[in-house]
Amino acid sequence: MECYFDNAATTAVRPEVLEEMLPYFTESFGNPSSVYKIAQKNKNAIENAREQVAKAINAGVNEIYFTGSGSEADNWAIKGIAESYASKGKHIITSAIEHHAVLHTCEYLETKGYEVTYLPVDEDGLVSLEDLKKAIRKDTILISIMFANNEIGTIEPIAEIGKIARENDVLFHTDAVQAVGHINIDVKEMNIDLLSMSGHKFNGPKGVGALYVRKGIKLNPFIHGGAQERRKRAGTENVPAIVGMGKAIELAVNELESEVPRLTSLRDKLINGILEKIPYSRLNGHKTNRLPGNANISFEYIEGEGILLLLDYKGILASSGSACTSGSLDPSHVLLAIGLPHEKAHGSVRFSMGHFNTEEQVDYILKELPPIIERLRMMSPLYEEVLKSKGE
Ligand SMILES: *Cc1c(COP(=O)(O)O)cnc(C)c1O
Repeated sequence: MECYFDNAATTAVRPEVLEEMLPYFTESFGNPSSVYKIAQKNKNAIENAREQVAKAINAGVNEIYFTGSGSEADNWAIKGIAESYASKGKHIITSAIEHHAVLHTCEYLETKGYEVTYLPVDEDGLVSLEDLKKAIRKDTILISIMFANNEIGTIEPIAEIGKIARENDVLFHTDAVQAVGHINIDVKEMNIDLLSMSGHKFNGPKGVGALYVRKGIKLNPFIHGGAQERRKRAGTENVPAIVGMGKAIELAVNELESEVPRLTSLRDKLINGILEKIPYSRLNGHKTNRLPGNANISFEYIEGEGILLLLDYKGILASSGSACTSGSLDPSHVLLAIGLPHEKAHGSVRFSMGHFNTEEQVDYILKELPPIIERLRMMSPLYEEVLKSKGE
């Protein structure tokens, strides 16, 4: 059975989405900035997608700017505000578990004379509102806290953070790349000033994202050149991708009411099944306050990479918590931040579900995973010692 359980990394484009995109590669290829009719049609398609995106998060149409990715939206929000509000101050507050698109941007700003406070998180991955209040200073210009974490799935108290930010007259950006299209978001109700999203995390195409910027906020252009995106983000628009992102977000948000309970129940079946069947395993992230499709589990005494390899043989595609892809042996900064010791962080696997996942697939994983863990542990000297010490 083919089981794609890595939807937090990327998702497949839905057929309905692809169908909407296709004409914009071929017959309707015109440059949206041109004056003839097919170009105007493309301009309208972009504006239609902007409405779909705006509606999904309860924003105004003129508050949405299309970008080339979620990473670009994060970079623009943080560097843009840092630059536009430098005369007010140079202090930024973020969390220790942000995506690298936020963390590395903040680190870059530190080399440019900005000061950054990295809030710690508790063992469930939540930032503390008390810590946040204490961190705010006169010269704080921006709070950037992610909506939901991409590794452990924990959903942060966004409305409460928004309230604190507003009361203290500090701007609030949230990297909502994992949350948009997966849980309810209302930028007005939650007092969000800037929000990043990415098309390919909700069954839209890759290479397109959007940044919501609340009306009235001063944000410098990110790419200079033509007049696209109201002179703030130059470059001929990626019309098919923008159209696809609009369609995908509309479908996802319309289906939230049924998808959230469906995925939550699949998630809990997977988590509870694993914890019951496999000794020395633990769930990472908040038990209930977590993304509907995210299960992140640590298996003691073995390495995540080994588990992934054997899962792959069985057609199960998941991801490990450690940053092995970058060639570094350091475990994930997120797992370390929630207090996991190195050895447990190394034995972590993230299963992330989405639109196409089914209960049959969860049952298949629950059948195939326990023998894989057992097999790897049998080869682990650490596990041997544990068994000996227990007299088994
Ligand atoms: C995937 C992801 C990003 C980056 O989005 P891209 O469109 O791939 O650049 C940023 N933040 C989070 C939380 C993500 O999961």
